[in-house]
Parts: sequence; structure tokens; C-alpha cells
Amino acid sequence: MSFNQQLAALQQQYVQGLPDTMKMLQNFAEPLSAPGWTEQTVRPLAELLHKLAGSAGTFGLTELSAQAARLEHRLDALLGEPLVEEQQAKSLQLKADLDALSQYEVPAVLPVSVSGSLTPEKAAPSSLVSEVWLLEDDEIQGSSLIAQFQAFNFNTRLFTRFNDLLEAFLLSQPEVLVLDIMLGSEGRSVDCLQNADLTFEGKSRLIFVSAKDDFNARLQAASLGAEGYFVKPLDVPKLITRIEQVLARLHAPAERVLIVDDDELLAQYYQQLLLAAGMQVEILHQPDQIIEYLEQKRPDIILMDLQMPGVNGQNLAAVVRQYDQWVGLPIVYLSAENDPQMQLKALNQGADDFLTKPIDDAHLVTVVRSKVIRSRQLLELMTKDSLTGLLKHATIKEAVSREWGIARRKGETFCVAMLDLDHFKLVNDTYGHAAGDEVIAAVATLLRQRLRSTDVLGRYGGEEFAVVMANCDAAAASLVLDDFRQQFQALEFLAEQTKFNVTISIGVAEYKPDMDIDAEALLVCADKALYEAKSAGRNRLVVFGA
Ligand code: GH3
Ligand code: MG
Ligand code: MG
Repeated sequence: MSFNQQLAALQQQYVQGLPDTMKMLQNFAEPLSAPGWTEQTVRPLAELLHKLAGSAGTFGLTELSAQAARLEHRLDALLGEPLVEEQQAKSLQLKADLDALSQYEVPAVLPVSVSGSLTPEKAAPSSLVSEVWLLEDDEIQGSSLIAQFQAFNFNTRLFTRFNDLLEAFLLSQPEVLVLDIMLGSEGRSVDCLQNADLTFEGKSRLIFVSAKDDFNARLQAASLGAEGYFVKPLDVPKLITRIEQVLARLHAPAERVLIVDDDELLAQYYQQLLLAAGMQVEILHQPDQIIEYLEQKRPDIILMDLQMPGVNGQNLAAVVRQYDQWVGLPIVYLSAENDPQMQLKALNQGADDFLTKPIDDAHLVTVVRSKVIRSRQLLELMTKDSLTGLLKHATIKEAVSREWGIARRKGETFCVAMLDLDHFKLVNDTYGHAAGDEVIAAVATLLRQRLRSTDVLGRYGGEEFAVVMANCDAAAASLVLDDFRQQFQALEFLAEQTKFNVTISIGVAEYKPDMDIDAEALLVCADKALYEAKSAGRNRLVVFGA
């Protein structure tokens, strides 16, 4: 079933349930006809009106939703009335209006949901290897750049003519397109692109390289949506870091959304809407299971109804906030509550935003997406090193401990490696601290490319790195890491027109379930192996105890 069909089906289901709802409304309004009713006796009525106000609008019945909201407020106001007599007169009027509402007739033609134009924005990546194409009319320069790209595991293709690129592009599109601005006989690639606008638009991310730093060319590149502009001679590690950033954004995992709402159809509606926007969405039916759910599924955001039978969303949010690890988890209330005072009160209890039902579809998608992006960014800032994007010292040490615990429990083998750049003081002294920083960033980029996605990478110290390789013995770890070491020494760095290379030494320690050492001691073993690699002449890998 398509997304629109699913929404139409939910709407149909909602409308079919309305006669029962209306009967219930009539019954619940009954206490109003006798004097002396209390908050207790009209609570079911208040809850039903609240629910109706929230859900009817979502399914296109805006008039019903608005009327329910108005009647809900009149009921609320009556609860505060001191004069019994006056209250009685108003109660009877309210009862009459409620009876009139319960005769509500569904319009013969149901309005089409506004979300008809939403389509999935993110397709699952078809393969883990990214396609990066290069348009460079100088074949020698192009080939050398391609060779360096390949060290980073990109699938690459070199084109020396714009027309060849155009032809290939019609058949398949790369994730990233790196284009030399000046093309010998064909003119400038920005102009070619502008002419071929429709073909390229939105299909690949663009990065330009150019022989000279020309403001107008930069402007044109920006107008084409370019995500980078690099001047020759190329600083290849910098260019590759940019490509990596672009790819990371492109492949960011789908947002994981948890919906907590007692209104089953409404929850399903939001679910369909967010699914169609490419997110992963689950509905939690038992609010008392929320902490277990968070532990297991680790959602990026909670959308929470404020009023549910038995639990109040505000208190539920407060419970979530009692746990340190969920202090930063975005919680957004979805509620028919439109009293600003009540909203403020709810926000004070630890939620991040308040959306009033009926919620505009596009607005919901945007709020969820932006909140998730923001909270992921904050989490990164807290745990990741800014220069390399690798885990910080404390977090990578935690990762070693965690892996040690898992390996011991499951009887698995795993490895820890320590890496340290060779003669790095000399690099700094000769080429400057900034060039040194680029070398450090390049280690991170190349590690990410060469290692498995399950390997955990950290910046242990200034120019020291630690890697945790789960479910892997020393032989397998050495193979991968030594390959990385060789690729690294082949990387060309550039500082003020001077090219240079840097090498790295690696120490590996293996943990087997029968070993009687803890995580801390394992790190010491890896460090000892690293020291051995240094004393044996550097630019090599040593396995502890081998
Ligand atoms: P060895 O081969 O024995 O490791 O020699 P080394 O020169 O690399 O020696 P050591 O590991 O003791 O030196 C580390 C140097 O790395 C010292 C420090 O100036 C530099 N360094 C540490 N952190 C950073 C950083 O963030 N950026 C830059 N550019 N340099 C750093
Ligand atoms: Mg060091
Ligand atoms: Mg060093």
C-alpha cells in the first residue's frame, strides 16, 4: 500500500468509529442534566472532548475538532463556577450543545490529507562503498588524485571530458562529484553544469577544484549548491575530509522516533507520516515500559501525548529525566492543549517543545528532523574529538571496558590497538602545527575508511590513537591495521608547496576469554607493543607477546 493509501485507510477507519464515539459523547454528557455534578462525574466527558479535539483535525475533520475544543473549554470554565444555580443553567445549555455535536455528520467527501506530497527523502544506501567521480581534463593529475581516493575505499571514476561525464551520469549517479572548474577545450565546468542543470540537480553532491582562487567562480559554484571549493595545488587530505563529511551527512542513519499516545489511530497516523519521510517509527502502548524501551531501542526522540488514561505525559517525561543517560533525549509533547499556561507548565517539566494538535504534517516532520539533528550534534560534541571526529579519551576507554565485558561473557576474542605517529615533533617543527593537525585528521579519516564499521576508534592523546576491534583475533587485526599503515605512509601531505609523508607505529594486544587480565591491563599490553614497534625502528606493527 502506498503512503497515501495508508493514510486514506486510517482516515476511513477513524470515520467508521465516529458513530460509536458520538454515542459515547452523549452518554458521558448525561451527568450535566442533573444538578450537583462534580469534576469526577464529568471526567470521561472532558477526556473524550480532548481526544476528539486532537484527533478529528488530523483526519481532516477540522470543524468537528474546533467544536470539540470549544465545548471542552466551556466545560472547563464551568468547573470553576461558584454559583450552583448559574452553573446549572449553563450546564443544561452545554448539554444541549453536546447533544447537537453528537449528531455530527461526516461530510460526504472526505478532505484529502495535506501530506499527499510527502515522499521518502532518504533511500537506503545501496552499498557501503561510496561512488566518487572526478572530472579533470589533465589526465596525469586526475590519475594521481584517483589513486589517492582509492586508498580511502571510494569507488572512483575519472573523466577527462564533460560530455563523457554527462553520458555516464544518465546511467548512474555518484554520491559525490569532484569537478575541475577549468576544462581545456570545453570551457568551464560551472558553465557546462549550468547548461546541464536538470540532469545534475540534486542527484550528486558537488565539490569544485580550481587552479586559481576566483571569487566569481566561487559564487557560481555556491549557486550550484557546491559543498566545497579547493584551490590547486590540492591539499588532498583536506579534500578527502570534506568528501567524508558530505558522505556522512548523506548516510546519516534514519531518525528513530518513539510515539507514546493512547489514541491508537492518531499514533498510527503520525507513524505513517514520519515513515514516509524516511524515519524509523515505533508506538509504545504501555507507558510503564518506557525505560526498558529506551534501553533497548535507543530512540533519537520521543513524541508524547500529554493526557493518557492512567498516566500524565508530563510525569512520564519527568520519569525519563530521572535517568542521567536520558537527560539529553528530546521529548516533544503532542497535545490538544492550547492553553499557553498549561503548555508552559508542561515545558517546565523537561520537554523540549510543544506541538498543538491538529499538527500540520510538514511541520511535524520538520520539528522531528531538526530536533534529532541538533541532539545528535550535541551528543557528538560531548563524546567526540573536534579535530578528528573520533571518540575522546574517556569514551574510547569506556569502549575498551565495554568490549572486554562482552567478550568475557560471550567467550569471544577481541583486540585493542594503540597507534602513535612517528617523529611527530619533527613534523610540527618542520611544517608547522597546522600541517601537523592535518596529519592527525588524516589518520582518523583513513582509519574510518579502512576499518570495519563495528570497530571503535578513538583519539587517545595528541597524536595517539586507540582502536577496539570486536570479535577479531590478533592475526586478523594485524592484517587490517598493517594495510592501513602502508596506505598511510603513501599519503602525500602538503605544506607551503612542499610535499611530505608521515609514518605511524602500531601496537596490538589480543584478549582471549581464558586470559586473566582486565581492560586496563589490556591497554597497557597494547602500549608495550607500541613501544616495541618504536624501538625496533618505527613504521611497523607489533603484536604483544608474539
Ligand atoms: P615518536 O616517533 O617516538 O612517537 O616521536 P614523536 O616526535 O612523535 O614523539 P612524541 O610522541 O613524544 O611527541 C608527540 C608530539 O606530538 C608532541 C606534540 O607537540 C605533538 N602533538 C600532540 N598533540 C598534537 C596536536 O593536537 N596537534 C599537533 N600539530 N601536534 C600535536
Ligand atoms: Mg606520542
Ligand atoms: Mg609520536
